[in-house]
Amino acid sequence: MRLVLLGAPGAGKGTQAVFLKERHNLVHISTGDIFRHNLKENTPLGLEAKKYMDSGQLVPDDIVMKMVGTKLAELKPEEGFMLDGFPRTVKQAEFLESITKLDGVILFKVPDEAIVKRLTSRAVCKECGNVTNIHEHSKCPLCGGELYRRDDDNEETIRERLRVFHEQTEALEDFYRSRGLLLEIDATGMPEEVFERVSDELRLL
Ligand code: ADP
Ligand code: ZN
Repeated sequence: MRLVLLGAPGAGKGTQAVFLKERHNLVHISTGDIFRHNLKENTPLGLEAKKYMDSGQLVPDDIVMKMVGTKLAELKPEEGFMLDGFPRTVKQAEFLESITKLDGVILFKVPDEAIVKRLTSRAVCKECGNVTNIHEHSKCPLCGGELYRRDDDNEETIRERLRVFHEQTEALEDFYRSRGLLLEIDATGMPEEVFERVSDELRLL
């Protein structure tokens, strides 16, 4: 299965990707994770991406497209994947269409105010990547690892990321709807409930 996970920052794409990976054995390709990994390792790609990420802007299309093109080319033909955080612009979507054929695009829908609430209280485990709430936990509830806040999870940057989403990424809803690929999911509520809705949609594919 070849999927795109589409939705605003904080819509829960990464969380659902963990469930999907377990159930359907798909390779998870998160462009945000790849940039953060590169930044940690101080690679030229990481340092370049940081300029944009810190202010909530998109990394330029050519950089992201090259990176994703390379990742997809490394997959075996029989391997399924889900793209998380890509595409984010129509140009990226057109590029993707030119190199692969998708089975579906899952759109995670959450109102903006709920997103601001989620992200201003989001903490991530340094050890296992589990996402949790800073008001509820001081250590990772899964592995006891230390929690950290992402640099771009402050209210000002969150609002800017949302603005950029509405300006540049939301157009992809029509792009994929017109191709008959869009699966729309109500992404409010508990992660398990959302995953039930995702599973119901995927059964129809
Ligand atoms: P979120 O979905 O929570 O905003 P991500 O982890 O997906 O965060 O991405 C973090 C940042 O990485 C984005 O704000 C952006 O700067 C950059 N980025 C990730 N994917 C892309 C993309 N496809 N195109 C341009 N920039 C991207
Ligand atoms: Zn953990």
